[in-house]
Amino acid sequence: MPMKDVYTLEDLRDWLRATADEPLPVRLAVIGDPIAHSRSPAMHNAALEKVGIPARYTRLHVRDHELEELLKLLPRLGFFGVNVTLPHKTAVLPHLSKVSDAARKIGAVNTIVVGEHGTLHGFNTDGPGFVRAIRADFGVDIRDLRVMVLGAGGGAGRAISVQCAMEGCERLVLVNRTIEKAQGLVAELQPLMTSTRLLGPMARLEACPWNDAALLRQLDQIDLVVNASSVGLKSGDPAPLPARLLRPAHLVYDTIYTAARTPLIRAAEEAGARRANGMSMLLHQGALAFEIWFQQTAPLEAMRATLG
Ligand code: NAP
Repeated sequence: MPMKDVYTLEDLRDWLRATADEPLPVRLAVIGDPIAHSRSPAMHNAALEKVGIPARYTRLHVRDHELEELLKLLPRLGFFGVNVTLPHKTAVLPHLSKVSDAARKIGAVNTIVVGEHGTLHGFNTDGPGFVRAIRADFGVDIRDLRVMVLGAGGGAGRAISVQCAMEGCERLVLVNRTIEKAQGLVAELQPLMTSTRLLGPMARLEACPWNDAALLRQLDQIDLVVNASSVGLKSGDPAPLPARLLRPAHLVYDTIYTAARTPLIRAAEEAGARRANGMSMLLHQGALAFEIWFQQTAPLEAMRATLG
């Protein structure tokens, strides 16, 4: 029987039999629905092999109503932990014994550690992964930047916005098609951005409607533009911002990692701005999860090599 790319709850119920053909015990996984597309197994198996941990990482296809049983099984089956992806990042929260402060603020968990006595501890590495990605790609710290987040009301946008506020970035402008979500997030993040730094006429933290005139006014006072919306994911999508709104001094980060030259990356190229796609965020959120599970530095180059 060949090794499976995706396991299910039914497999977990008879795990030793289901994984009998695996070369090593499977003790890590990413859980989600759908899950077959996930690149995490390649990245984490390369890391496990590189540092000599005799375990495998797989994909677990889990539906909403299966989540609770799955989480209960993990400690009994000797799992070190799991990564959590859509649509379960928020739904796992009530099932965890402990949740990190950042994950609580973000309202989503993407990494779970199985602790002593079978406790489950939740973390979110998307925000810190983003911070590391910006440092790696542009050589700058978020705390020194004026940041605009497009799609701040989505899952990735919320994680990035909360993290930017926790880092104490210079300015934070939240843009979302449904403006009420950006306004709600501004109200939540206000207590994190209380510094009295003088920044000129613009507010340090504000929501901005998604239209050219409003964006143009803001972009004059912005260093880093982040696309955390799903605009640009589908072929034929426009850029979330047209090139004419960007300037050479802008740093442009598109969290989309499925294409090297996304519509936003092409717009940034046209404007002569420095740019990077979301591959580095994918890599660093994974590296941080590895560090949380094993309390050791992740083998970044081995992990990066699997992302192509
Ligand atoms: P999500 O929760 O569904 O959020 C989607 C966001 O996109 C919302 O803000 C939504 O605005 C906005 N949006 C969708 N269609 C739009 C349109 N036509 N015009 C304007 N805004 C639109 O999705 P998610 O999980 O956060 O993912 C968002 C992006 O982040 C995806 O491109 C994904 O590839 C990327 N991502 C990257 C990483 C990484 O590691 N690099 C990790 C996670 C996600 P409304 O609120 O108005 O609906």
